[in-house]
Amino acid sequence: MKETVELLGLTKSELVSFVETLGEPAYRGRQIFGGLQHRRLRSFDEMSDLPKPLRSRLEEVGRASSLRVESRYISEDGTRRYLMKTQDNLPVETVFIPEEHRDTICFSSQSGCPLQCTFCLTAQLGLLRSLSAAEIVEQIIIALNDAYGVGVKPPRGTNLVAMGAGEPFLNLESLMKALRVMSDADGLYIVPNRVTVSTAGVVPKILELATVPDRPHLAISLAAPTDELREELMPINKRWPLAELLSACKTFEKTLKPGERFTFEYVMLAGVNDSDEHARQLANLLNRHGLTAKVNLIPHNPADPLPYQPSPPERVDEFKSILESKGIHVYVRRPRGRDIFAACGQLAARHSTLIETNSIGV
Ligand code: SF4
Repeated sequence: MKETVELLGLTKSELVSFVETLGEPAYRGRQIFGGLQHRRLRSFDEMSDLPKPLRSRLEEVGRASSLRVESRYISEDGTRRYLMKTQDNLPVETVFIPEEHRDTICFSSQSGCPLQCTFCLTAQLGLLRSLSAAEIVEQIIIALNDAYGVGVKPPRGTNLVAMGAGEPFLNLESLMKALRVMSDADGLYIVPNRVTVSTAGVVPKILELATVPDRPHLAISLAAPTDELREELMPINKRWPLAELLSACKTFEKTLKPGERFTFEYVMLAGVNDSDEHARQLANLLNRHGLTAKVNLIPHNPADPLPYQPSPPERVDEFKSILESKGIHVYVRRPRGRDIFAACGQLAARHSTLIETNSIGV
């Protein structure tokens, strides 16, 4: 059987080459690219500017969409969470977060995740598989179509964060391909400068990204200031302990260009990693490695089977003050979509007890 090509994962020039193999002129490739990426159409049938025989041929050899939305939840704060399924029936989760001046879409890079962070529900799924570039791009298209209508230009800028399910650096090739596709001015036009990729600390890939000129912003999930505690919370630390991770971060930091963001994420778990001593250890760790990156404190989002609670706001404030007293820039992230389990670490929660189940055709 001939392989079906996922056209959403092709750049404009790849689409041009693809249609040429079908004996079509180059402009048809550009037309299809515009249909998929600019008009955000999810079937060839809707591309009425293409001749019918070409549409039928495309149906045979290619695919305009692979994901289907199984459920959608809308939070009181406007956050939308989508549970989707791939063609091979694996779960994919995406969250759309509207804000005053921009929207943020949190997408998944893998179905499930092979890493075993103990504060994250997705970890319990294990790795089902890495997503293709097309499946990454399609999450963005689905969220934008649902929020604004098919092909309607978003009124605000769109930021992307690779902080949904999966470890993006274990699927870096597809991720970077998806970013190349999305950066095209004739398509979604979301450039890498609008994208943040968060890693649990895959050191060789941090070093690889340090050599890439046109890259997304980087965030490192730390969660603990000592190897002992980090190994417990994020077992990846056994493979790449803090000294190695932070030395890679320093190498990366040296390559930062003006306007690039590089942050550390620190999920705050009550009574686990949020003491005054932890704050001092964290500040000393970053200062010892000469890192000037900002720290984002993220109050943990409780999810039933996980044994953690969020740090109380006073604790977060105290933790923040200690870091600041030692010269660290700190930001406290406000949780969004908690009521629909869309907040960080809550993806994969409540799969079996849906709050609202819709079959929607976005
Ligand atoms: S926090 Fe991220 S890297 Fe860790 S298990 Fe969850 S999805 Fe994977």
